[in-house]
Amino acid sequence: MTSNWPPGDPAMIFLDAAATTPVRREVLDAMWPYLTGGFGNPSSHHTLGEAAAAALAQARRTVADVLGCRPGEVVFTSGGTEADNLAVKGVALARQAANPLLDRVVISAVEHPAVEESARYLERFHGFSVDVVPVDSTGRVTPEALAGALRPETALVSIMYANNEVGTIQPIAALADAARAHGIPFHTDAVQAAGWLPLDTRPLGVDAMSISGHKLGAPKGCGLLFVRSRTRLEPVIHGGGQERGRRSGTENVAGAVGLATALTLARDRQAGEQARVAALRDRFIAAVLAGVPDAVLTGHPSERLPSVASFCFPGTSGESVLLELERRGVVCSSGSACAAGSDAPSAVLTAMGVPAEVAQTAVRFSFDAAVTREDLDAAAAAVQAAVAGIRNLGAGQGR
Ligand code: PLP
Repeated sequence: MTSNWPPGDPAMIFLDAAATTPVRREVLDAMWPYLTGGFGNPSSHHTLGEAAAAALAQARRTVADVLGCRPGEVVFTSGGTEADNLAVKGVALARQAANPLLDRVVISAVEHPAVEESARYLERFHGFSVDVVPVDSTGRVTPEALAGALRPETALVSIMYANNEVGTIQPIAALADAARAHGIPFHTDAVQAAGWLPLDTRPLGVDAMSISGHKLGAPKGCGLLFVRSRTRLEPVIHGGGQERGRRSGTENVAGAVGLATALTLARDRQAGEQARVAALRDRFIAAVLAGVPDAVLTGHPSERLPSVASFCFPGTSGESVLLELERRGVVCSSGSACAAGSDAPSAVLTAMGVPAEVAQTAVRFSFDAAVTREDLDAAAAAVQAAVAGIRNLGAGQGR
């Protein structure tokens, strides 16, 4: 990871993989033919178009194999945000059209804005109510809490697989079960989980699942929504009727091929890599807590992504720690990239009961599969120096 990023500064340690990842070589190689000579439009009725359609169909079959579903249950989208919009708006509106009494959606208190804002849109423009299920102090939703939020009018439940700020993993199979017991479709945003956690939709029991390419070594601007057959879905993008009428617009053939390749690579290396990165994460967490004894690890202690370590550093501000770390050659994030630049304390940490003044000191370190022990040892030392530097400055100003 340190070898070619950013251009001109090969020594930089990039610990912001939950924001995005570089495109993997194998992914780029698989995409290349469809960006160059095989550039056809899959809807065209000539050889070039038919070759593109065949590549798209193959990508769909490959994805279906990873997700344990039928090719026809895969809708390619422009990314995770669009997949979440399609799931939340598309399922809720389609179900309401069939039964006007269905006018509630259930989400968790720690959803990505792509889910939360889609639910709020339904509230603003379509008369829905949004029921928000609380999380515990580790960021988990319990099946009991979910069951308590379900009503006869609930059209859809959407709860993420793993959180983008603290890495907490939800008990998705149990949550999906609770929704199924009431005949309510269950969507999960698996954007952060993809690449790290099992994606077979059968044991998960989900009816819809969102994935984004750029979090796992495919390019930005490609993603997908798995939608179980017979789940009603109203499109949110209308036009030429591509993707069986569920998502119009000329398909991103190269993106779909890249995403299929990235998902296959991730599945094939998952078991070994997950354990290796989780061990590195635990070593990094221990080193940070040893260097900054009053740092607080946020999220679940064990049910967390192998790739995410997130802390609060009381007495600092997240932004100042970021700046100090970048000066020392470490790039990370103060929460999620989507909330970057906002002064508001993280809604995720607030929902977990972290006081606002502590939530403002949050820093997230996230790794991709290429992370090394040397990088993380160096980063932990940089964290200790950065926090000490900020505190010394504060003490000096106080004198
Ligand atoms: N959902 C989660 C949990 C995410 O972390 C992100 C991106 O940060 C998204 C959705 C949005 O995905 P995309 O960037 O592909 O639109």
